[in-house]
Amino acid sequence: MPDTVTPTHCPYCALQCGMNLTPSPDGRAVEVSERADFPVNRGALCGKGRTAPAVLSSGVRLTSPLVRSEGGALVPASWEEALGRVAGGFGRTRAEYGADAVGVFGGGGLTNEKAYSLGKFARVVLGTSQIDYNGRFCMSSAAAAGGKAFGLDRGLPFPLEDIPRTGCVILVGSNPAETMPPSLRYFTELRENGGTLIVVDPRRTRTAEHADLHLAPRPGTDLALALGLLHLIVAEGRTDEAYVRERTAGWEETRAAAMAHWPEYVERITGVSVPELREAVRLFCEPEAAMVLTARGPEQQSKGTDTVGAWINLCLATGRAGRPLSGYGCLTGQGNGQGGREHGQKADQLPGYRKLTDPAARAHVAEVWGVDPDSLPGPGRSAYELLDALGTDIRSLLLMGSNPVVSAPRAAHVEERIRSLDFLAVCDVVLSETAALADVVLPVTQWAEETGTTTNLEGRVLLRRRAITPPAGVRSDLEVVHELAARLGGERNLEKGFPTDPEEVFEELRRASAGGPADYSGITYRRLAEENGVFWPCPASEDPGTGVHPGTPRLFLDRFATGDGRARFVPVAHRAIAEEPDDEYPVLLTTGRVVAQYQSGAQTRRVDELNAAAPGPFVELHPRLAERLGAAEGEPVAVVSRRGRAVAPARITTAIRADTVFMPFHWAGEGRANTLTNPALDPTSRMPEFKACAVRLEAVRP
Ligand code: SF4
Repeated sequence: MPDTVTPTHCPYCALQCGMNLTPSPDGRAVEVSERADFPVNRGALCGKGRTAPAVLSSGVRLTSPLVRSEGGALVPASWEEALGRVAGGFGRTRAEYGADAVGVFGGGGLTNEKAYSLGKFARVVLGTSQIDYNGRFCMSSAAAAGGKAFGLDRGLPFPLEDIPRTGCVILVGSNPAETMPPSLRYFTELRENGGTLIVVDPRRTRTAEHADLHLAPRPGTDLALALGLLHLIVAEGRTDEAYVRERTAGWEETRAAAMAHWPEYVERITGVSVPELREAVRLFCEPEAAMVLTARGPEQQSKGTDTVGAWINLCLATGRAGRPLSGYGCLTGQGNGQGGREHGQKADQLPGYRKLTDPAARAHVAEVWGVDPDSLPGPGRSAYELLDALGTDIRSLLLMGSNPVVSAPRAAHVEERIRSLDFLAVCDVVLSETAALADVVLPVTQWAEETGTTTNLEGRVLLRRRAITPPAGVRSDLEVVHELAARLGGERNLEKGFPTDPEEVFEELRRASAGGPADYSGITYRRLAEENGVFWPCPASEDPGTGVHPGTPRLFLDRFATGDGRARFVPVAHRAIAEEPDDEYPVLLTTGRVVAQYQSGAQTRRVDELNAAAPGPFVELHPRLAERLGAAEGEPVAVVSRRGRAVAPARITTAIRADTVFMPFHWAGEGRANTLTNPALDPTSRMPEFKACAVRLEAVRP
């Protein structure tokens, strides 16, 4: 039993704060303490990270497999029985309907090793193309826009430590004061150093309270806002002509699109006044360096890729990308939101951020996997489309590290599709709302009980270390995949390709990623332990001085990752959200997070301290809207969309626009915000429009 302190990282968000874990004398629990040597958070933790050990306790988490009894209840079972049922369920579906009738749904919280193994398992063992993951709901629009403009998607192309030294940051649809509080210090230091912070958000959030300028556009109009700013930049002669000429392509078309968005027209669309637009342009353009950072606000829209593209265009036109202390970045949300999108659990992707449709990529990965490239399936459906096909084309599902009954858009419909499956197997730490619907639930180890790597929002690959022994009844996700490969592979002995030792999996991942856009081949567990993380790309090629590649904290300083090294402007134009308010549904709903809960709340809703701070859902609305409705603070309010009805107490505040209501999405039951949200998809990223849909409010009388 280890009796020393184990340096590791938080299980929750993409900041991946460093923390130390000290095991209790019996080795079953851990205590969290400050880890000052990790530069990203320098010891600071939010309440979620501090209380994470509560989910390790046996009263909260699963410690035995569960199987559905004949009477319909989930009852404890042996691992042998549970795994046998899963293999039997998938085997029957495959025999009757074909390989694509078995789906796989992963998560952005899975370690790189798990994401890699899950993608390989789907394609090699199950032979299915139907795999995607909940990270599709998180940052896929930013990934698509970054890929188009720069030829490469890495959330931040620079370390967070650059933020305090730039001149201005525009933070679009991001609320780090609540989602990743230790990161707020980067923005306060920016202001202490004389820089300015502009926050774009329909709500005056805790982050907006820290801003020099807060722009509050109507939800779903930040694409128009960015175009209006670009119009003014051109009109005021603030473009960087030399940079545009030497480092970009496609400016003229983008310039013409921006010139069609007059400031007064943009003011009418967004509600942001022309003087505010001019002030934002001044603050952004006057310093030598500046950044734009986006998060879920602009990304979770049916035009999310174009919206992020519009903000990237702003950076390119002013020479604020691929230069020191300047650039565009996306603040990824989930714990391994970055690494989880690089190693093959996405519908269209192979490890190393390779494309499944690229013959050279298929040949490279097939060789590492020891299979025929032609045996690898093609791209499958995106996350919502996959969930929507459950019970019809897809008859059985393996779900790992996700809770779509709470987190998917149009959640009542998704729940109904999940219930219609022939067979559902869920690997999870707790009995989430989705696990409760499963035929078999497999209890798995969690962060303090297992070793693995994650990649934080900066593209910094990190080592999470095992600190304590897991309870006897649980196994790791890697063991589950190994056991299922043994049972489903028959005489092919496929389990040999699915090691249970995470370092062994990582060694294979290194080879599979070698030469790809997200090249991890120069990274080893030993380096990660010694260096506090390594930024990808980090190829294995030898450096003549040290013999190792140092990693790449800053991207694009010499050239962008396109064929000719130039960034691409992508011309975009304003368009309406998929569901504009009308007489029947006159108000806009936007959704988001609160500081004391995390994503679907499956873990954090089981922590007393967090529940005391954030006990349940609420509807945030402006006093004018509340008065019209006759609703008082704390009274239940019904929010109704074309997809369903949710009820939660009113929270009345002038910090939100009068045409908009806000609901956090962490809860199930009648206050489930995603009952209401619109699954209209972005045509490129296939991101659903979580951030804006039409609703009406109804008073709820006792
Ligand atoms: Fe964990 Fe994120 Fe909180 Fe840091 S900010 S402690 S990574 S939840």
